[in-house]
Amino acid sequence: MTSYSPPSRPDIHSPRYTGLATFMRAPLADRLEDVDIAIAGIPYDGALTNRPGARHGPREVRNQSSLMRAINHATRVNPYELCRIADVGDVPFTSVFDIEHTHAEITAFLSRIVKAGALPLCCGGDHSVSLPVLRAVAGTPVALIHIDAHTDTWDSFQGSKFNHGAPFRRAHEEGLIDAAKTVQIGIRGAQNVSAGWDYSDQAGMRVMFIEEVKARGIAAVVEETRGIIGDMPVYMTFDIDSIDPAFAPGTGTPEIAGLTTPEAMELIRGLRGLNYVGADMVEVSPPFDIGGLTALTGATVMYEILCLLAEARAKEA
Ligand code: MN
Ligand code: MN
Repeated sequence: MTSYSPPSRPDIHSPRYTGLATFMRAPLADRLEDVDIAIAGIPYDGALTNRPGARHGPREVRNQSSLMRAINHATRVNPYELCRIADVGDVPFTSVFDIEHTHAEITAFLSRIVKAGALPLCCGGDHSVSLPVLRAVAGTPVALIHIDAHTDTWDSFQGSKFNHGAPFRRAHEEGLIDAAKTVQIGIRGAQNVSAGWDYSDQAGMRVMFIEEVKARGIAAVVEETRGIIGDMPVYMTFDIDSIDPAFAPGTGTPEIAGLTTPEAMELIRGLRGLNYVGADMVEVSPPFDIGGLTALTGATVMYEILCLLAEARAKEA
């Protein structure tokens, strides 16, 4: 790990397995000035409804992300040439047994990133964390690209309306996202009630179940998604359970028959050039992982999203 002095880029001379693990081996920054893209860990899983462990996601994704390099082989984008990129550490918590207080702490941390003029790229944590991130990022309603097996537009569970199955219902109610500019991709898996799917439909979100994605192909999904989002400010949220558990078993609510990793790469790369205001990758649960496979997949998804954010930030500068 090198100390932070912009312009920042990973040390390409040392072996990648050496040093303290930061996201993508980016320098660790203890300040936000001179940072274009702030990569933050949100190690919180207090809003899960099923298998635990996503609180350990950021640490293990940092570990596996040391395998990442700079130049994207498909797009030839080098995010470190376009932007100053730093790992800004984890959101600090003072009361993890209180979901709403923890969410407020996430919003406070992310607000500092946004006010400093940096684009946030977050690593969860369970999917509930996207709501407090959106509260910091969305001054006006933003478009949403939501890649997931689940619509996460369900309602209260066990007395909390902030559980990880509900963040985008809450975000819509709070005016943080524009439902007509929201695309949910990869949805699947039986449910006991249809309330989440129904909410997305009735709100006017574009819900693409996995069967439609597979039948039409990623290129058609990309084309339609780009048409819906247009040039609106857009947030991308990527739940690792969108990917088939054969590729990403380490997650809390796995659903078989999902995206392959090549499909996920094609999908993310197809969504270049949009007006990104931030992004996250969530729900990696290391205790359920096998040989670091899911954390590596999550880290690679984050690298691909980093390339999108870097292009967006460079265009805006
Ligand atoms: Mn989710
Ligand atoms: Mn999910």
